[in-house]
Amino acid sequence: MVRRVVHVTMTSMSVFDLGPFADAEGYAEAIELDRVDPLAGCRADFVVTDPDMIYLDGNSLGRLPRGGAEIIDGVTHREWGERLIRSWNESWWELQLELGDLLAPLLGAMGGEVIISDSTSVNLYKLAEAAVDASKGRTKIVTDDLNFPTDVYILEGVAKRRGLELEIVHSDGIHGPVEGLARALNGDTALLSLSHTTFKSGYTYNVSSMTKMAHEVGALVLWDCSHSVGAMPIDFETANVDLAVGCTYKYLNGGPGSPAFLYVRSELQDQLENPITAWWGHAEPFSFSLEFRPVEGIRRFHTGTMPILSLAPIEAGVRGILDAGIDEIRQKSVALSEYLIGQWETHLARHGFDLASPRDPEARGSHVSISHPDGWPMTRAMIEVGRVLPDFRRPDNIRLGLSPLYTSFLEVHTAVQRIKRLFETGAHTAFMNVTATVT
Ligand SMILES: *Cc1c(COP(=O)(O)O)cnc(C)c1O
Repeated sequence: MVRRVVHVTMTSMSVFDLGPFADAEGYAEAIELDRVDPLAGCRADFVVTDPDMIYLDGNSLGRLPRGGAEIIDGVTHREWGERLIRSWNESWWELQLELGDLLAPLLGAMGGEVIISDSTSVNLYKLAEAAVDASKGRTKIVTDDLNFPTDVYILEGVAKRRGLELEIVHSDGIHGPVEGLARALNGDTALLSLSHTTFKSGYTYNVSSMTKMAHEVGALVLWDCSHSVGAMPIDFETANVDLAVGCTYKYLNGGPGSPAFLYVRSELQDQLENPITAWWGHAEPFSFSLEFRPVEGIRRFHTGTMPILSLAPIEAGVRGILDAGIDEIRQKSVALSEYLIGQWETHLARHGFDLASPRDPEARGSHVSISHPDGWPMTRAMIEVGRVLPDFRRPDNIRLGLSPLYTSFLEVHTAVQRIKRLFETGAHTAFMNVTATVT
């Protein structure tokens, strides 16, 4: 392998060694783990224009699958450019249902239980309102303080408009407050809504036991699987999950802002009402009747016209996961995160980096957070000098996302070495006062 050095002018260093770092502990292990990795070949299915750049943010925006780029090209030039309005009948009208069915096995759902629709935020709103309506008189929604802010804002809005209480159960900042949630759930609870894998620490709930806990008090459960879908097996059917939402642009590699999914268990579909009574949820949208009549089944949770250019490439992302196998993906995800934690312990812990994710792989998703008082300038130095792309979550979390289809063990080894060298040379001190809108 060619050893690369970048010239840096913005810091005290004149050159920065990009590695690989064959002398550093853990290198031989990384090479061996990559050699025996059954998913190593999947990386070739993605567009990788800069092999020196180590991308550890697939949990925020997955890489571009080659198949996705081809779909975008075909939809743009053939379906839109040539076929124009005829494409609605030829391939567009049912696409969000077809892609929902394609995705269903990754959720342990059945055909007809999943659609692609709107954004995760809007889907959460629709299903939370529907659940509270169906609960007839229950007065409380329960969540935790590890949930993604948009989820909490939406639940808060639903509660406020209806005069309900939103109970936000506090955690230790890393682990899901399972016991606190058990105490909060009671006969007044309409809905328990949680992130399956939490965005900051990566803590991952046991869907079955938490769903059972909610059902025991007669509450519905609404899972946000944005940070788990495509990274680990999910089994809604066995767990008897009521409702769920999630993004397609993270581990599913659907593309920036690709529309989200929503799941409603089949028996509940006709009992629940979409609060946004829009024409795509109408029984006969092309009757253009002024009287709203909801269609039966999952379609009633639609809103309006789908963004076809963003919807279509989801197929390539989901097929990539299905072809590789979700059990194999989870196995590699755990191996990558365990390897990363070992490397953190050997090389970074002594420099004041703390592990801000659960130690137990059973309770962890596919990213590892490390915290440091200089987490923000370190993140900027990693991106600008170290050619490692993580993301940063306040106050001090550097999130390292591991996407098993394209992250290699050697990349993890090299990234840790670059982080270590950036810190030891003080490269991050040049970035103390740098700001960014998207962190
Ligand atoms: C990424 C993420 C979102 C983002 O929602 P959008 O509506 O797509 O902006 C919501 N919830 C969770 C848990 C997420 O991880």
